[in-house]
Amino acid sequence: MNALAATNRNFRHAARILGLDSKLEKSLLIPFREIKVECTIPKDDGTLVSYVGFRVQHDNARGPMKGGIRYHPEVDPDEVNALAQLMTWKTAVADIPYGGAKGGIGCNPMDLSVSELERLTRVFTQKIHDLIGIHTDVPAPDMGTNAQTMAWILDEYSKFHGHSPAVVTGKPIDLGGSLGREAATGRGVVFATEALLKEHGRAIKDQTFVIQGFGNVGSWAAKLIHEKGGKVIAVSDITGAIKNNDGIDIEALIKHKEETNSLNNFPGGEAMDPHELLVYECDVLIPCALGGVLNRENAGAVKAKFIIEAANHPTDPDADEILAKKGVVILPDIYANAGGVTVSYFEWVQNIQGFMWDEEKVNNELQRYMIRSFHNIKKMCQSHNCNLRMGAFTLGVNRVARATTLRGWEA
Ligand code: GLU
Repeated sequence: MNALAATNRNFRHAARILGLDSKLEKSLLIPFREIKVECTIPKDDGTLVSYVGFRVQHDNARGPMKGGIRYHPEVDPDEVNALAQLMTWKTAVADIPYGGAKGGIGCNPMDLSVSELERLTRVFTQKIHDLIGIHTDVPAPDMGTNAQTMAWILDEYSKFHGHSPAVVTGKPIDLGGSLGREAATGRGVVFATEALLKEHGRAIKDQTFVIQGFGNVGSWAAKLIHEKGGKVIAVSDITGAIKNNDGIDIEALIKHKEETNSLNNFPGGEAMDPHELLVYECDVLIPCALGGVLNRENAGAVKAKFIIEAANHPTDPDADEILAKKGVVILPDIYANAGGVTVSYFEWVQNIQGFMWDEEKVNNELQRYMIRSFHNIKKMCQSHNCNLRMGAFTLGVNRVARATTLRGWEA
């Protein structure tokens, strides 16, 4: 199912549970603004190449719009719209004073040199600089982008508006980035997993984990789970998949990937079919890559007892139904991966205050926010007799609906 159709379906279900007024429901669904721009750059060899860049600003009732910028070949308007909407509910679930947005460029960053990526990022920033800002819309990294990308956006934006570190988050530390931001999404995933397991009388140290995706989020989640004594028994990324039922040495795997740029030929594990990974026998499955990976084709074969959605919308609504019937507990994306945007909020606060926090404070606050949200979601599950996804959606949608109603519609 298309990402936007799936996200809209979840939203409408939550709106029904909450008994939202149909006009309010419609206004919450329509994005505030959709931006689509041409980005043409000279390649290193002098030839011209054109890409399409998007920024969808979904909602700003609770504060400036917030969300990542993704560089990936599959970026398209529907996907960016879905991801922007998910950011609105995610920031509301986390109870940070933001709305939601998402951006992206349909390109394969692996085919571009560093100078081509810099030119592309600067051209994109030139096209959208008037529409983003510290109190309007604050971009951050996402798939295919990183702290360096944010540094280029900050530099380009500052040429038009003066030095403004708080216009992007996930920056390099030297430019006002926050300690702990790089690990934050993975660390948040681990805090969320701990909260869920605790509720089921379990702990990370006595569970087996399968992790799909070994980029920023997947590798940090794997590292922290490994440190807490959890057994990571299978891992995959775009280069391949490996398994080891005795537990993979994650530090060694990170080193191997740094050295070879691949998971293949890792001496501490044996190669496996990446499709088999999602249905591999384990306690906890953590998808950390693309959306829609769990669907009607494979959901019936999933053997995990818990799924932690570190990726955005990895489970489509068909898979949700199939997995629910099997008794699989799913911790939804708009909660499970909110650690990244939560520490983005801490970074923005530090920039505005001009006061830097130490890493311990960042991590402790992140833990406090993640645990608080888990309990708030559980309360919604109890009062509406619904699963965790609808608990999170009703929590987020209700907060945005209240803010919208309080602000009013008077022109
Ligand atoms: N791209 C991340 C997300 O999907 C982080 C967004 C942010 O920090 O604004 O949540």
